[in-house]
Amino acid sequence: MAVPKSKISNSRRGMRRSHDSLPASISQECSNCGELKRPHHVCASCGTYDGREVAEAEA
Ligand SMILES: [Zn+2]
Repeated sequence: MAVPKSKISNSRRGMRRSHDSLPASISQECSNCGELKRPHHVCASCGTYDGREVAEAEA
């Protein structure tokens, strides 16, 4: 089993994790209704994906 040769200090660990955070939620405008939606997801507002209706519109 691979074993670390020396302890990673709190500071080093923090430096490594400085790139681990997820980006703020990304959204795009729906091409059908203009509402903000998540890319590659069915629009929650009008229920369309790729120009055709695939789900019941919510709200
Ligand atoms: Zn939409």
